[in-house]
Amino acid sequence: MHEMSITQSVVDAIVSRLGDTAVLSVRLEIGRLSGVVPDSVRFCFDVLCTGTALEGAALEIDEPPGRAACRDCGREFGIDYPILLCPCGSADVEVLAGRQLRIKSVEVA
Ligand SMILES: [Zn+2]
Repeated sequence: MHEMSITQSVVDAIVSRLGDTAVLSVRLEIGRLSGVVPDSVRFCFDVLCTGTALEGAALEIDEPPGRAACRDCGREFGIDYPILLCPCGSADVEVLAGRQLRIKSVEVA
């Protein structure tokens, strides 16, 4: 489950910057094409935060949709699954958005 190591790096990043400051909530952005399962991140977050300054912090996850552009016909379209296929039939598609995974904000006490 790679969500565990991803979530660990998020928790580590917050703890290393904020030290012992109690954290009320964390907002993450997990693109729908990132391959990361938000529910798994929620589970891992609860487990990994126990005993840290993040214990009890609320986790909010935004899931921005994917967007892609076709290199053959130039069309831009939304995609929710990491299956890259333009409505024109071309698979020569560039992902513009939806693969991001980042911390958007952290609210401290
Ligand atoms: Zn196309």
